[in-house]
Amino acid sequence: MDITAVEVKHVLTPQRKGFLAGGPFPFTHALSAYTGCAFGQTTCGMYCYAQFLPNWTMRNPMLAWGTAVGVKSNAAALLEKALAAMKPETRRSLRIFMSSTTDPYQPPERTYQMTRHCLEVFARYPDLDLLVIQTRSPLAERDLPLMQRIPYAWLSVTIETDDQGYLTSLKGGPLLQRRWSLVRAAREAGVLTQITVSPCLPFSSVERFGERLLQSGARRLIVDTPMDGDGSHGERTARTTFAVAEPRWNETSPAHRLYDYLAAHASSLDITVGWSNAGFCGIPPRTYD
Ligand code: SF4
Repeated sequence: MDITAVEVKHVLTPQRKGFLAGGPFPFTHALSAYTGCAFGQTTCGMYCYAQFLPNWTMRNPMLAWGTAVGVKSNAAALLEKALAAMKPETRRSLRIFMSSTTDPYQPPERTYQMTRHCLEVFARYPDLDLLVIQTRSPLAERDLPLMQRIPYAWLSVTIETDDQGYLTSLKGGPLLQRRWSLVRAAREAGVLTQITVSPCLPFSSVERFGERLLQSGARRLIVDTPMDGDGSHGERTARTTFAVAEPRWNETSPAHRLYDYLAAHASSLDITVGWSNAGFCGIPPRTYD
């Protein structure tokens, strides 16, 4: 893995169009403390849309996705500067997704702690509207005490299937059992938690996966597919090695059946279920007593 330190000019990226700017409750900004992703050589890297975005392709045209990571060494300092310069009413409108082009808890975070330093900044500003921390990495458990101190933080954990054998037969990735454990630990720590089945990969059965999701401890469940969620109605995914390895990649009916099952059983458990973009952008603004 080629890891380099990079200095950037801005760390909060406005979301004016695209997936995260959709309704009903859009994000205002994305935040990535790294460029590239060290999970890129695992299963999710086979279909990851971030490998097609300019902030990777322009900087690293010769490098394979998942073989290099840029550590934004000034990310936390820039975040602190940006939040400190805002009027309180501006900060109160901020809805931040961390991260849309990398995993904030990818393996280098264990050493470089850029995500942790950003959370330390957020913990000093209690007045933002929303921070979603999106990861598939069990390393996030390390920072649950910090997330507890951020009243608008949601931990969002990707669990795209319940079939470990299927993931392993492709290119692996963080163990599913450890991701389920992360969700449970977050719930027990009082951290708001959602699971994103994104994109939904082949799973055991609707009932088995659905029940596990419903009993996981997560308060929100989101189901997505490559056709709905890759930002190009499947065109990007069609160009990936995943489309070669998984001929059923563009079948959305299993994901719809899982969604329908969850939606039918969730309300009595006080769980919210969402589909694709509307699910990701479905966390309402904070309410104040
Ligand atoms: S963890 Fe996310 S950003 Fe990283 S390779 Fe996988 S899908 Fe892409």
